Amino acid sequence: MNRVRLLVLNAALGPLDYSVPEGMRVEPGSVVIAPLGPRTVTGIVWDEGRLPGRAVDASKLRPIREVVPVPPLAEPLRRLIEWTADYYCAALASVARMVLSSGGALGGPTTTTEYRLTGGTPERMTPQRLAAIEALEGEQGTIRELAGIADVSEGVLRGLVNQGVIEPVTVAIDRPYPPADPDFDQPALSPDQLDVAKRLVQAVEARRFAPILLDGVTGSGKTEVYFEPIAEAVRMGRQVLVLLPEIALTENFLVRFEQRFGTPPVLWHSSLKSTERRRAWRAISEGTAQVVVGARSALFLPYAKLGLIIVDEAHEVSFKQDDGVRYNARDVSVMRGRFEDIPVVLASATPALESLHMAEIGTYELMELPSRFGGAELPDIKLVNLTEEKPPSGRWLSAPIIHGLEDRLAKGEQSLLFLNRRGYAPLTLCRNCGHRFQCPNCSAWLVEHRLSARLACHHCGLETAPPKTCPECGEGDCLVACGPGVERIADEVRDLFPEARVAVATSDTLGSPERAAEFIAQAEAKAIDVIVGTQLVTKGFHFPELTLVGVVDADLGLEGGDLRAAERTYQQVAQVAGRAGRGEKPGEVLIQTRHPDAPVIAALANGDRDAFYAAETEARRDAGAPPFGRWAAIILSSEDEKEAREAAVRLGDTRPQRDDLYILGPAPAPLALLRGRYRYRFLVNARRSANLQDTLREWLDAHDFPPGVRVGVDIDPYSFV
Ligand code: ADP
Ligand code: ZN
Repeated sequence: MNRVRLLVLNAALGPLDYSVPEGMRVEPGSVVIAPLGPRTVTGIVWDEGRLPGRAVDASKLRPIREVVPVPPLAEPLRRLIEWTADYYCAALASVARMVLSSGGALGGPTTTTEYRLTGGTPERMTPQRLAAIEALEGEQGTIRELAGIADVSEGVLRGLVNQGVIEPVTVAIDRPYPPADPDFDQPALSPDQLDVAKRLVQAVEARRFAPILLDGVTGSGKTEVYFEPIAEAVRMGRQVLVLLPEIALTENFLVRFEQRFGTPPVLWHSSLKSTERRRAWRAISEGTAQVVVGARSALFLPYAKLGLIIVDEAHEVSFKQDDGVRYNARDVSVMRGRFEDIPVVLASATPALESLHMAEIGTYELMELPSRFGGAELPDIKLVNLTEEKPPSGRWLSAPIIHGLEDRLAKGEQSLLFLNRRGYAPLTLCRNCGHRFQCPNCSAWLVEHRLSARLACHHCGLETAPPKTCPECGEGDCLVACGPGVERIADEVRDLFPEARVAVATSDTLGSPERAAEFIAQAEAKAIDVIVGTQLVTKGFHFPELTLVGVVDADLGLEGGDLRAAERTYQQVAQVAGRAGRGEKPGEVLIQTRHPDAPVIAALANGDRDAFYAAETEARRDAGAPPFGRWAAIILSSEDEKEAREAAVRLGDTRPQRDDLYILGPAPAPLALLRGRYRYRFLVNARRSANLQDTLREWLDAHDFPPGVRVGVDIDPYSFV
């Protein structure tokens, strides 16, 4: 092969042709560096004839500069890249970037320089230097990482390096990971568990594509069970990928993994240090990383010999990526399993309707764990009708929940209050003039966070100190909080029970694995009486002393821009209810609602999962919604409102007219302003038989949008804001 076509990692460019210099060996999947104008670009040698492009005259081809010393991307992964780009209407280069996601792994040296404190002091101590030195106690990392930790500029740290206060150290990056022992500590499985575990092990041994839905009630021991096929894959010398929805969940998982396999798994998530990323990426590509546990981005890594994929809590929305390549890691996992010809296990107590449907029509194999491990009963669920049991004004907990808390406190048991709202209050206004505090960049209220004394936008991340006076009328000391967030509920509990030890559990308080671990340790040691938390506490946690779960507002999820609002509410409440009574003591769940008769709430109260799924299935069938039809969202945005609106109207004028697909919009998005950009959207509803992606591509490609307009396509969208 003396001429190759490269998929280059630059989404603005199409595939490019190069010549292969004498003596250089490349094959499809080889990662190479090629000249591009005065610079270079990273590219992947692609299979002949699969990428479109103009044939350039051989004499004009420039030679590839070098081959990057990593294994070539295997064929299944190349097919996955193509499929993902095609299905999600994304650039091939953007998908390929998710594969080559560690710059360090692609060729740097095998050692790197990190920095740490020497214990010395600078000649001239400034407050900034002092703060940096305090923050860096015990830390080691690159200058950039340390600057992030200490919240100072890199210049400040370089100054300290020159003064000998911080020293460079050479560290090897590619130390091998200790091997997992598949027989380290095998649990005694119950007969139900054993049966499912055996079938999963057989699926691994078969080395064939097999999509499996592991549907087990909360507390049935799904993790324990899927550890068995993991062990088998390890015995066979193959790799395993376990996808988890939330980094805060991993700590608990890691502990259990280590108990079972004698060593922790290899971790992959976005907050890894660059050296850890490099080490993991290389071990994954060489096949020495046996079991990789990660967030959704771990799905695109170049595993050398993948034998099994497990997606835990597979119904979770966080598997859906909503920027860059808008993919759903649950669905792409199944596709990867197909290309790799291996089993893929989707584990959940509340599967997505789409997944259940696939099991029902026989596309996925269904494996069930219908009862809790060790004879624990599922909790007793009761509704509290808020129109009858009204809390006093400015309060949110009804008498039954208060009595429940009182009772648990007296018995030394734990309670969990669930409200899916971070912060203290979702809206702040001026008592004098009614001014509402809104984000200047987004059409959203600023949320008060009392723990950090900030008003924050949950969409763009803007934070400001709460003003002393109203910016509208100038009145001082006039801010009132409207509505509850978890911090406010925690205050209410402290007010009612001053002796109670209350912990707020949200991404603000448990954002890092360390903080999550600390929280779990405290809860397990019974140093917490009442946990007040957001959706973060609905998954994964197992606290045997937790016997009461209170859902503060079950109606909340039914509002807002979620296309699957009823399903999401069902899942969240059922999952949080599943935290109660997991030990020997029975659990009780109290659900506050203003709509006790709404089908989803009634199904929750009756513990009638089948009735809920049946009703929801019919509603989706009627609406032509997934899994019976398909959706896509198109969002046009611009910093200029008029430009965005006009582009949307012009696009709407040329909408394709077809029987198998109709297009709603354009309309201003509910979040009409986001990060300073005005947004208009279309919702496409298509029959399953329609060629959705090609139709959208043809429609959009025929348009020349002004440079200020961004066009985003979201296939199978979840959020519609
Ligand atoms: P799920 O993920 O289905 O909610 P888990 O896997 O978290 O359930 O299991 C619930 C609890 O029961 C965990 O503490 C787990 O360690 C324990 N457990 C489950 N199966 C077994 C078993 N066979 N032997 C010992 N403990 C088990
Ligand atoms: Zn904002």
